[in-house]
Amino acid sequence: MDNLRFKAFGIAMTRKLRDVEFPELKASEYFGELTFNKEAMREYLTEGAFDQVMNAIEKGQKIDRKIADQVAAGIKAWAISKGATHYTHWFLPLTGATAEKHDAFVDPVEGGRGIEIFRGNELTQQEPDASSFPSGGIRSTFEARGYTAWDPTSPAFIMDRTLCIPTVFVSYTSESLDFKTPLLKAIWSIDKAAVEVCRYFDKDITKVYATLGWEQEYFLVDHALYLARPDLVLTGRTLFGHSSAKDQQLEDHYFGTIPQRVLAFMQEFEYEAHRLGIPVKTRHNEVAPNQYECAPVFEEVNLSIDHNQLMMHLLDKIARHHDFTVLLHEKPFSGVNGSGKHNNWSLATNTGENLLSPGKTPKENLRFLTFLVNILKAVHEHADLVRAIIASAGNDHRLGGHEAPPAIISVFIGNQLTKMLDAIEKSESHIVAKSETVIDLLKNLPKIPEILLDNTDRNRTSPFAFTGNKFEFRAVGSAQTCAPPMIVLNLIVADQLHKFNLEVKALIAKKVGKDDALFQVIKKYIKESRNIRYEGNNYADDWKKEAAKRGLSNLTTTPEALQALTNKRTTDLFERNNILSARELKARHEIRLENYTKKIQIESRVLGDLAGNHIIPVAIRYQNTLIENVKGLKQVLDLQTYGKLSKNQMETITDISEHVDKIKTYVNEMIGARKKANRIQEPEEKAFAYCNGILPFFEKIRTHVDKLELLVDDELWPLPKYRELLFTR
Ligand code: ADP
Ligand code: MG
Repeated sequence: MDNLRFKAFGIAMTRKLRDVEFPELKASEYFGELTFNKEAMREYLTEGAFDQVMNAIEKGQKIDRKIADQVAAGIKAWAISKGATHYTHWFLPLTGATAEKHDAFVDPVEGGRGIEIFRGNELTQQEPDASSFPSGGIRSTFEARGYTAWDPTSPAFIMDRTLCIPTVFVSYTSESLDFKTPLLKAIWSIDKAAVEVCRYFDKDITKVYATLGWEQEYFLVDHALYLARPDLVLTGRTLFGHSSAKDQQLEDHYFGTIPQRVLAFMQEFEYEAHRLGIPVKTRHNEVAPNQYECAPVFEEVNLSIDHNQLMMHLLDKIARHHDFTVLLHEKPFSGVNGSGKHNNWSLATNTGENLLSPGKTPKENLRFLTFLVNILKAVHEHADLVRAIIASAGNDHRLGGHEAPPAIISVFIGNQLTKMLDAIEKSESHIVAKSETVIDLLKNLPKIPEILLDNTDRNRTSPFAFTGNKFEFRAVGSAQTCAPPMIVLNLIVADQLHKFNLEVKALIAKKVGKDDALFQVIKKYIKESRNIRYEGNNYADDWKKEAAKRGLSNLTTTPEALQALTNKRTTDLFERNNILSARELKARHEIRLENYTKKIQIESRVLGDLAGNHIIPVAIRYQNTLIENVKGLKQVLDLQTYGKLSKNQMETITDISEHVDKIKTYVNEMIGARKKANRIQEPEEKAFAYCNGILPFFEKIRTHVDKLELLVDDELWPLPKYRELLFTR
């Protein structure tokens, strides 16, 4: 049989650059043309329908049935004019992917003909038979009804001639089965809580929007090479592979010239993204070879999350046009950088301001301080939850590696702000009663606008860093949906702002001046949240010791980290804000545990199969050649020369046997451990068994396989090597 690796490499070597043809238009002429945006609504909706949809988007008001029929008619006319033949409710089930079930617009009518039909109820609500989605036991198959309901805040769009309507997904018993439902609730909470707090500063602020700008990292590998690696196909990462002699040590890929074939892919991808209204803006090479990044302009968080989901789908789809496969896994290759998805997050107001932008006047600065310190306090209170929400089998390989933030959650705010918070902490202002004095005090503190200077040397090792006018949550994994981290971040800050408001109100009720009351609570929070702030190098081992002293958790594995999802603190937080019930949280915890277990189980199976059926037979075949050679030498050489010259071959022969023996032993032990773990019913116990009993075999087996890769004849080696996967472009 021909070596699959060489076949694949042969195909990869003869790839032709695929020309991409674009219409001769400016980007502004096609941007958003496939979305039912405001402009399209104006054209296709009656005035009444348009107003109601706008009210629903801006004020969360309900759209009545009759109007829904009009909206449906408008969307249908628009979609058909763009060539759509089908429609679907598009939602984010708890698998972390997106889900859709297409229906044709066309319905048969008398005379063997058909007409396009799309009514209000088809727009607003559907009942997909979605009984196979994970629900964590919330929905047993006998009551499998799940409903999708239109989310007018994210515009409908057309993908592959199908009209996609973003929806929430809830059960018959109205429990949420998706990410969008709790997200919309968290968005509503932060709006309410932030507006309450803004009233101390500016009565014109009536709405606060959370904003998100993600940065998506990914790898591209040639599709033929990808297909020749069963581990990539089935698990999204390489389970074996000796590092390439050259990888990222010269740092020559980062921000380098984008290779032509990759550029052609990016251009087509960006064109399609822009047509869908996804404002992708930045593209560049990342640190590892064949690693890239794409980032948009930030948007309102719900829309931004939908856009990220769509973008991941688009990346995959367009990559195939160029014979690439996109790897979104957090650590597809060992020894080079993994991929993250930085979540840049801020709060914007209806008055066009950014609440995390330091102001020019002391008054604006007090507002900025208020929000900054409340965020610090929120992350301090709920650090374990923040850690839990980004835990996954894939992200475990990245967090704590030397190119990614550690599993210890801390916040970086920069030198200037640290000085300012320290000065406030030491100040005596709480004894002054007159509000002017607080303002005076702020005037004398290090000036906040100077923090802009900090942007240049910002800390890239922190999992959660202030970057001038936003926070950057850097620990999110590249394959994850942004929804869970955004639910948590917005929720913990909303909850905190609400508490802050109550504390300030209580002081004011005791006749403390407003500014002084604000200042007193801020000061208290600075003290209480001090431990979460860290300005040093998060990759250093010293930090682990220091963090332990401070009592910060360092939860390095998913099953451990996930425990914070259902503890009392988290359950109370979610329940008192009406985001998720204890039962819903428990269900989500179970789904994540099961997902973890299944991922490790699949990896373990693939690993066993590759080691046993691909690697060992090839190693033995090569060893036999060596044995034949040694036997031949014995025949033709005199005994003394033979003894001298066969030494190296003999050594290789025994080395191969030792590696094969070790691989076989470990694989058998791993299978034994798996059998034992599979008998466990309780999801958490099972996840721990996989984490502690099975995962440790992976490295052990890999070491020996990677050694064999160096020993065995290159002509025989069946799996594309790192140098091929990482440098073919
Ligand atoms: P980095 O230096 O971390 O690579 P980039 O400049 O690539 O940063 O990305 C910055 C990201 O921050 C972009 O996605 C951008 O849209 C986002 N961003 C900028 N301002 C805000 C804001 N106010 N709210 C949310 N995201 C923002
Ligand atoms: Mg970044």
